[in-house]
Amino acid sequence: MATGSINVSVENIFPLIKKFLYSDHEIFLRELISNATDATLKLKHLTNIGEAKVEYGDPKIEVKIDKENKLLHIIDQGIGMTAEEVEKYINQVAFSGAEEFLEKYKDSAKDSGIIGHFGLGFYSAFMVANKVEIITKSYTDAPAAHWTCDGSPTYTIEAHDKTERGTEIILHIGEDDTEFLEESRISELLVKYNKFMPVSIKFGTKTETLPKPEGAKEEDPAPTQEVDNIINNPNPAWTKQPADLKDEDYKGFYRELYPMQFEEPLFNIHLNVDYPFNLTGILYFPKLGQDMNMQKDRIQLYQNQVFVTDNVEGIVPEFLTMLRGVIDSPDIPLNVSRSYLQADGAVKKISSYITRKVADKLSSLFKNDREDFEKKWNDIKVVIEYGMLSEDKFFEKADKFALYPTVDGTYFTFEELQEKIKENQTDKDNKLVVLYASDKDEQHAYISAAKDKGYEVLLLDSPIVSHLIQKLETSKENISFVRVDGDHIDNLIKKDEETISKLSDEEKDALKVDLEKVIPADKYTVQLEAMDSNASPFIITQPEFMRRMKEMQQTGGGGMNMFGNMPEMYNLIVNTNHELIGQIKDTKTDKKKERLIKQSLDLARLSQNLLKGEELTEFVKRSFEMIK
Ligand code: ADP
Repeated sequence: MATGSINVSVENIFPLIKKFLYSDHEIFLRELISNATDATLKLKHLTNIGEAKVEYGDPKIEVKIDKENKLLHIIDQGIGMTAEEVEKYINQVAFSGAEEFLEKYKDSAKDSGIIGHFGLGFYSAFMVANKVEIITKSYTDAPAAHWTCDGSPTYTIEAHDKTERGTEIILHIGEDDTEFLEESRISELLVKYNKFMPVSIKFGTKTETLPKPEGAKEEDPAPTQEVDNIINNPNPAWTKQPADLKDEDYKGFYRELYPMQFEEPLFNIHLNVDYPFNLTGILYFPKLGQDMNMQKDRIQLYQNQVFVTDNVEGIVPEFLTMLRGVIDSPDIPLNVSRSYLQADGAVKKISSYITRKVADKLSSLFKNDREDFEKKWNDIKVVIEYGMLSEDKFFEKADKFALYPTVDGTYFTFEELQEKIKENQTDKDNKLVVLYASDKDEQHAYISAAKDKGYEVLLLDSPIVSHLIQKLETSKENISFVRVDGDHIDNLIKKDEETISKLSDEEKDALKVDLEKVIPADKYTVQLEAMDSNASPFIITQPEFMRRMKEMQQTGGGGMNMFGNMPEMYNLIVNTNHELIGQIKDTKTDKKKERLIKQSLDLARLSQNLLKGEELTEFVKRSFEMIK
């Protein structure tokens, strides 16, 4: 037996490991299984190139709990180590790696953004074990070695009689970490980190039912056998070539990733690039609907099939974090903070590659099957609209396939929309006026009034639409958007002929005075207008600009809250050609006149959903009084 001292300068590395990584003890298993996987794949490579003259076979990594003796074993059939290699790789390489990592980690301990603490390697075993043994036999003829270290910088190394090649790591689990002797806990970790690792991982056995032999009786039980319980799929879909996968395979992999998710994805995007960076993966568009928040943190980041994190912030552009799926890239630096990550050149390239692939996929779906694309629009629009807002490159591409549905379910691209409304929806400066509604029921009266005049009304109802409209107005020339209940459309859209007013100017002045006596000036601006006699007598509209600014502030964006604090202001448009308005004008007693105006105003408010609480109760009471 030989003993040695690892390195004086790292005397206190173990308390450090325990202290700094307190919350992340569980990653030790990922690190040890990664090492076992590397050792196995190295052997595969050596046999492939004829360097190692051994049978590669079908090697497995086994994880075993020995609860009684408080031991956890990780056993591989990989390349193994000679005693000299243990000396070199474990005592020197592994230790310097651990030291370097801790140096880095100390500086950034406050920055919780370090991804998954990759890089600690073998020594992470000491986070959970107070003694670690390595029994290892090299694939060469060299005899096996047995290394033991109890967490102090001294270790022992001696010969061992192990004959099969590979490495067994034995962890003597400490008092504080006995959770790692529980089958359920280990199983949970294996599924979380190792579900798609490239070498089979065995954890216990399971009972498999075999087909009944021929001639077996009905009541005979089916025979069973004990088989290895393999917890991973070593060949997940994203590692294969797109040409080798069918639609069913993609859907199957989605179920593998999200077993609790019953809804099928709408479509997928296979990422596969090896220059100038290496990245594979599959992204799925789930049905999103209107909710923008619930879907985040569903894309999983892997590195060579080892799970790293499900927080891909900074790697995937924000608008795509609503998607699901897997990204696997060895080129994403992992033991760095998020802020560093976002500034990293390779990561920037990856992010823009992903954006481009998503835009191209959407574009081809639109071109190849427009009908189907329209059907899916409602479930994908939030991502697309968000992307158009936040990434100019994406905007350029999406501008050709983003859809603008009408309230009647016709879908226009922006270009088609322009073409459609250029005849009869322009204002006095020949600017195009796009009319839209955000809620078919609430704005029903306005929608039907606009449709009666032959205008197209879009239905734009996603939560960020006010931002998108703002962006479209600034990036496109000569176009403005107005909500149907916004600035009065009859004022806005250029008409061929003016409607002739039934009232003289003097009559109008007198009427305005009467109206303003009753209608609260801090809420409404009264505007008299000659309209078609069939149009409503009182119409309440809200200035488009003000409403949109308020909405934009509610959904984020715009630092100042100047619009949010402004009181709600409305326009009250009075149709001087309506019969009722004529009646109001001609009513003799002031009291009766006031009652008519109040009642009309309340009806207009009611149609705009503005009459609530006590005022609504009063209104209903007054109405019953009037009809009884
Ligand atoms: P890293 O894996 O990042 O190099 P580690 O500290 O995890 O750092 O391991 C140090 C070295 O020890 C490895 O590079 C490898 O040569 C050797 N090693 C660790 N585990 C095994 C194993 N299971 N089989 C063979 N060699 C191993």
